[in-house]
Order: sequence, then structure tokens, then C-alpha cells
Amino acid sequence: MNMTRIGWIGLGNMGIPMAEQLLNAGYPVVVYNRSKAKEAALKNLGAGIAPSPRALLEETDVVIIMVSDDKAIQDIFDGEDGLLSAKTSNKILINMSTVSPKISKEMAERCKSVGSFYLDAPVSGSVKQAETGQLVIMVGGEEQVFQKVKPILDKLGKMTLLVGLNGAGNTAKLAINSLLALYAQGLAETVIFANKNGIETSDLLNLINNAALGNIFTKIKGEAIISDNYKAAFALKHIVKDLSLARDEGISSPLAKTAFDTFKSAEQTYGESDIIAIIKALD
Ligand code: NAP
Repeated sequence: MNMTRIGWIGLGNMGIPMAEQLLNAGYPVVVYNRSKAKEAALKNLGAGIAPSPRALLEETDVVIIMVSDDKAIQDIFDGEDGLLSAKTSNKILINMSTVSPKISKEMAERCKSVGSFYLDAPVSGSVKQAETGQLVIMVGGEEQVFQKVKPILDKLGKMTLLVGLNGAGNTAKLAINSLLALYAQGLAETVIFANKNGIETSDLLNLINNAALGNIFTKIKGEAIISDNYKAAFALKHIVKDLSLARDEGISSPLAKTAFDTFKSAEQTYGESDIIAIIKALD
């Protein structure tokens, strides 16, 4: 059987385990990353390596992009040997990064003008869910295009939902990450308050995780707080980016404003640490 040839751009905390899922599922995968050293791990698992986004697009059918932000997307599409310099058509480009709805709409139009197709498909979940194919994927784009690649997305996530036209996936993701910021700040403030009044962190988290407010987030981030491990699964700098994008889209509620100010002021010191390092900034 001829499997769809997949190109993968972006081998960060999320990109590496996600690309691995597709290799494990038997897809032929070719990867490209700006820092070449990160490609070695995927090469050892059988992936091909492309020298540029353009070369990657030329030798594959579907290209998936998982990079930091709008600037990275701009570079990958428009840079020297970028995706839009390829002389190809009828390709499907899936952008799974958390970026602005605006850049997705722009890139979707530009893909269309060269006879290709674009979906925005950001994800909820972090490294653990990426490693087990348990992400939740929200998609913006055309139904027909979505149906063509849904079997691929289903290897990465436990749920994949089309929520509207291009940009809608990004809008849904920004809404969800606004809640993520509130959860992180809320958990941090709660632990600090309890600690200051004599309650052990482990006791507090044991109570939370066994009652109505416990969830996957409080379990994973609670463990991080208890073990004082702030190595980034989701870097704090990325939530600053997401809250800033949500502001650009018009969020101006009291909690969203507070969260933006809190995370922004922590970024310089804790930007490369995990989001829950906000507890160190607040303490
Ligand atoms: P990361 O570990 O910081 O990796 C970022 C990736 O983007 C790297 O491959 C990096 O290349 C590439 N990149 C950055 N700027 C670039 C540029 N100008 N040109 C080309 N490539 C560039 O990020 P991540 O945690 O994997 O997250 C990726 C995306 O998923 C982000 O939008 C994030 O908000 C979102 N997300 C993350 C999580 C999470 O838990 N981590 C969860 C859901 C969604 P280099 O290796 O060369 O630096």
C-alpha cells in the first residue's frame, strides 16, 4: 500500500514525540528543523532529512508544522528556500503550532493561490500526551481537506474536531490557553497561600487531586511543584505569546488582563522554564 508521505517541520518539545508517533504508525516521514542537531534522533528512527522547507515539500504529500510562533511560520513559508518558494501544487500543509488566526488566514490564502491547501490544527495537551498520541486537536479549514488528513491527525490525538474555517482552530486554542494561564496562576497562588499558613504542599495537592477540583493539570503540575522540577514541558514564554495573541483577538476580561501581567513580568527570569514556574515568580 502506498502510504501518504509526510514532511515534518519543527522538532521542539512537542514536534519530536509527535513526529515519532507517525513513524511508529508506519508513515514515511521526512523532517526539517532549523537547528540541524535535533534531526539526529528522528533519523535514527528511520526518518529522512530535508535540507530546507522547500525540499521537504517537494518530496512529500502532506507537511505538518510544529514551531514556536508567527515569526517562525513567516520564516518557514517566506524565508529563503521556504515552503512558498516550492514549485508544487496539490499539497496539504497543516500548521499545528499555536499562532494567530490572522497568520493562518494569510497562509491559507497564499497556499490556495498556488493550488495547495492549508489547515490550522493546534493542539491541547503537552509532551506526555504527544508521546502517547493523546492530544486534542482543533482544526480550522475546509471539510474536504480535513477529511483527507483526519486519519493522520488521529494518530497524534485522541480527538480531532473541525471547528470552523481557517483561523478558527487558532481562535479555539487561544481561548483554551487563556484558561490554562488562569489554572496555572490559580494553582500557584493556592499552594503559596496554604504553605504560608502551615499546610504541606504534598498534603494540599493530595486533597485537591482527590476532590472535585483535581484534574490532569493539577496532578502533573502538582508533581512538578513537589519535586521542584521546572524543566519546560510547556515553556512559560509560550503562554506569554498566547496571552498576547488572545489580547490581539480582543480578550480584555479582568482575569485575562491579570494573567497577562503576571506571566509577562515573570518571562525574563522564567521564560525558558515550565509554565508552572510562575509559582517561583509569585512566591
Ligand atoms: P519549542 O520546544 O520551543 O520548539 C520550537 C520549535 O520551533 C523548534 O523546532 C524551533 O527550532 C522552531 N523555531 C522557532 N523559531 C523558528 C524560526 N524562526 N524558524 C524556524 N524554526 C523555528 O516549542 P514546543 O513546546 O515544541 O511548542 C511548539 C508549538 O506548540 C508552540 O506554538 C507552542 O505554543 C505549542 N504548544 C506547546 C505545548 C507544550 O506543552 N510544549 C502544548 C501545546 C501547544 P530550533 O530547534 O532551531 O530552535
